[in-house]
Amino acid sequence: MQDIKTYDFSGKKAIVRVDFNVPLNDKFEVADDTRIRAALATINQIIKKNGSVILMSHLGRPKSGYEERFSLKHIVNHLSELLGKEVKFADNCIGQQAKDISSTLISGEILLLENLRFYKEEKSGDEDFAKKLSELADIYVNDAFGTAHRAHASTTVIAKFFPNDKMFGYLIENELTNIDNVVKNSKKPFTAIMGGAKVSSKISIIKELLKKVDNLIIGGGMTYTFIKAQGGNIGSSLVEENKLDMALEIIDLAKKYNVNLLLPIDSINADKFANDANIEETEVGNVSDNWIGLDIGNKTIEKYIEVINNSATILWNGPMGVFEMSNFEKGTKKIGEAIALSTQKGAFSLVGGGDSVAATNKYGLSKNVSYISTGGGALLEYMEGKELPGIKAIKN
Ligand code: AMP
Repeated sequence: MQDIKTYDFSGKKAIVRVDFNVPLNDKFEVADDTRIRAALATINQIIKKNGSVILMSHLGRPKSGYEERFSLKHIVNHLSELLGKEVKFADNCIGQQAKDISSTLISGEILLLENLRFYKEEKSGDEDFAKKLSELADIYVNDAFGTAHRAHASTTVIAKFFPNDKMFGYLIENELTNIDNVVKNSKKPFTAIMGGAKVSSKISIIKELLKKVDNLIIGGGMTYTFIKAQGGNIGSSLVEENKLDMALEIIDLAKKYNVNLLLPIDSINADKFANDANIEETEVGNVSDNWIGLDIGNKTIEKYIEVINNSATILWNGPMGVFEMSNFEKGTKKIGEAIALSTQKGAFSLVGGGDSVAATNKYGLSKNVSYISTGGGALLEYMEGKELPGIKAIKN
């Protein structure tokens, strides 16, 4: 494995797996370019070291073959503006045109290949497809952390065709350093804040975190599965009936590992799932029949803020309530602000998972946390201690 910081790219073509899976508006313009910006450091480094760059990515979920709305041609202009350079485009990621353009690339030039997922071979990890991509370049760089947990052709399989000339880009390097700061080298007290809709999608990470954290804060929809499991009344709140035992097991595990497990004590409830619903605030185990718990209550916020204030390492994954609706955003906003304040006082904070990142942006806190991860599933799997195929393929 090579090192992007020191590698001499002179006269070489680097094929770089990036994550340009960005949202587009109805005019097919880039609506949020965070992911494109995240790849610039790697692209610029290769150019600075006199290499040429072949970029490959997926965009959206095409069913089978070409679909205009998922074409990466829509992002060429935006990318070119960000780089201050012309970006060439090949309207097929493999084939003669891609070969022709890449073979004539000179130092400093950039080529973007069409959406990899127009070929089903990308997701199936087809070796022949990966080989064709590899033949376009001399070096392979993986800089797509968000797909590193998938053994796709461009994220994993392709690496075998570059036994020596392969490396991580800056984005993946940064992700690994920052996540390791939390899971491997965390300063104590270490607090994990888990929210979001369902406990089922986060059980393995919660179990793993219990071995490492001092405090585990629970919020969001998953709250009510824990409360019901302990005999509380949750009205019509979100619940996973088949996970009640699992919730009790988590409570027991927290005791076993001596972890301070914090569940909400009060709840903001609505008589329908809408922002203009009537609202009541009750104890969390006393939600009225037919009412739905949509946010953590004020006493809970106070209790959580105190713990966050006294933490040295903070991990946040998942909102505390339905923060998309203004009447149920207070818990998420206050917790986000508390994390920012604690960070200012010296704590290391990592925010990951789509919705907590969206919340951090919404409340203008993204510059006030230590690191925002670009990974959803990849972040959780890496933190669980699983070996991600895209990471392993580079390291081996
Ligand atoms: P996840 O993808 O599992 O992190 O879930 C994020 C979603 O959970 C967001 O869209 C929130 O609106 C939703 N959510 C948070 N709290 C609740 C709640 N109490 N009831 C229903 N949904 C919730």
